[in-house]
Amino acid sequence: MVRLEWMIFRALFFVVFLWFLGFATGAGVFVVKNKSEGVLASKKKEGVWPAEIYAVHSSAVNSFSASGIVDAFNTSSVSVVDETSLKKTGEASKKIESSRAEALDGAKSEQEKVFLDVSAEKAEQGDTLIFKIATSSKASLLVNGKSVPLAVFNSSSVGIYGVDVRSVLGIIPVKLIIGGRVIQEKNIEIRKRDWMVTEFTLSEGQKQLGYTPETAKQAINNDDNAILYGIFGKPGSVVYFDGPFAYPLSQEAEIVGAFGNIRKSGATEIRHLGTDLDAARGTPVYATQNGIARLARGLSNFGNTVVLDHGNSIFSLYLHMDKISVTDGKLVKKGEEVGTVGNTGEYSLGHHLHFSIKLNGASVDPLRFLKQSKDI
Ligand SMILES: [Zn+2]
Repeated sequence: MVRLEWMIFRALFFVVFLWFLGFATGAGVFVVKNKSEGVLASKKKEGVWPAEIYAVHSSAVNSFSASGIVDAFNTSSVSVVDETSLKKTGEASKKIESSRAEALDGAKSEQEKVFLDVSAEKAEQGDTLIFKIATSSKASLLVNGKSVPLAVFNSSSVGIYGVDVRSVLGIIPVKLIIGGRVIQEKNIEIRKRDWMVTEFTLSEGQKQLGYTPETAKQAINNDDNAILYGIFGKPGSVVYFDGPFAYPLSQEAEIVGAFGNIRKSGATEIRHLGTDLDAARGTPVYATQNGIARLARGLSNFGNTVVLDHGNSIFSLYLHMDKISVTDGKLVKKGEEVGTVGNTGEYSLGHHLHFSIKLNGASVDPLRFLKQSKDI
């Protein structure tokens, strides 16, 4: 008889246990699915869950609540359940606080995600710096107070800054601006580069025209440079370049006139703002990047000249060519022939390619530019 009563008691206990298990598991799902504080409050009556967990509601908290239920049934001691739950509740509250802070101050959160990267923190005159900005917001970049145009590649913005051959030395500030506010700042150190002083030699053509070094310089500036700088002053709005810039010849050539050289004759000085590459007449010259031909014709001093506008105030120049292969206004692809090496124009002493790069008004070392553009 005692045994029968014991069996009935055990059966009843088992039924009650199953009911309780089903209810609690259901409640767990219920908590996950519902964000209502009313529902949570009804669970509070059961005395299983610490009060704090009902005070907040979000997907983060609900997932903690669900795991809390699992913990409750894996634990035999109520006090341990409470400790675990309280610990989780604390973590949940922290998560909620941070997610609320983000939600309340979305702009600030966005600013924190901004990342400004620069290819080098020290540069020399004639160098090129590549800035990368990772943000979904519209940003602007100021380097030494000058606005640097940005191009968007793969959701990050790229700014290409030319340290002019005559750039001021010392520390220059970099400011990233979003929504009218400076979000990030950096300092770049600009160092002096030693420049060679060479003899300013007149060509036979210049001599025949009766030029002196001074009148030859005036002719270069007043005629050819006036045309070229007129183009640099009106950059197009389309970005054509899509990555690093390439060498303009099929193989590396000897440098027969270095960038930045000061060509001097008496009191007359003229700066060499490109690199002269030694190559035979007729050697094909290739576009360093995609661009649009903004000039493709003969100039009196620089001879047959092509100027490509790559966008964002980046220009490449190819001077003294024998033949021009493109026409003004033509869209030129990277690697496409723009002409052949020659010795045209009064300001040329032999067959070579004069290759120049202008970056937003700055004259930079074109060969360093090619290397430094690999960071684009
Ligand atoms: Zn040259």
